[in-house]
Amino acid sequence: MNNLNNIELFLLDMDGTIYIENSLIDGANDFFNYLNKNKKKFIFLTNNSSNSAKNYLLKLQKLGIPCNLDNIFTSGMAMGIFLQKERTGIPVFLVGTQALYEELKDYNVNLVSNYKEAKIVVVGFDKELTYQKIEKACELIDHGAEFLATNVDMLCPIENKRFIPDCGSICKIIEIATRKKPKFLGKPERQMIDLIAHKNNCPPNKIAIIGDRLYTDVLTGINAGITSICVLSGETNIKMIKKSKYKPDYIFKNIKEIFEFLSQCQKH
Ligand SMILES: [Mg+2]
Repeated sequence: MNNLNNIELFLLDMDGTIYIENSLIDGANDFFNYLNKNKKKFIFLTNNSSNSAKNYLLKLQKLGIPCNLDNIFTSGMAMGIFLQKERTGIPVFLVGTQALYEELKDYNVNLVSNYKEAKIVVVGFDKELTYQKIEKACELIDHGAEFLATNVDMLCPIENKRFIPDCGSICKIIEIATRKKPKFLGKPERQMIDLIAHKNNCPPNKIAIIGDRLYTDVLTGINAGITSICVLSGETNIKMIKKSKYKPDYIFKNIKEIFEFLSQCQKH
């Protein structure tokens, strides 16, 4: 655990941490003003690969958060970087949205139009899923294609405490048919954090992750060896933390309390 005042780069979950659906959580503005004033960096980290970084940027700017594309990192981007670096030029069949398609194109991923040429299947949170895509993915994996996926989440929370199936659930369909398991890249795997730390030239002891989920946000912190902060403004409550084997380094009621804590520390 590191003193929060020594943290130079804050990685932030979005839903349940900064906003809930389309409304900003109280204190978020103070927190970002504090970071900017004190020359601390922040990056929004999301497992949701159904949208591109450009679309997230529009949403955040609409909510009044001063940020640019450098402040956003999605599991789709992690996939793009991984494919570009580790699987250069290998033909890929995508089970994902048009937004993810465009995102991967930005990393020069070889997305094939004839699926039979693909050697890798990439699955994302595909809100434009069809049975045909599933069938093609299964055929390719049965014939030896590598099975990759952006994020492990089974469910995505929506309004009125309801859920819709996320990438993990789509992978389950393919997994049951092919008896092959995918390799996931998003939270809680440490890959995303390693990529960010490298790109920002920031050591792990100067990075903290803030989020509302124990098994993604906090576990990412534990896996990557960085400071983890759990906020109680989303999914998790104190009881859940007591029961969980994933213990955050810090617990705050919300982002406002983190801001107050940081400004208080500074005065002493
Ligand atoms: Mg969240």
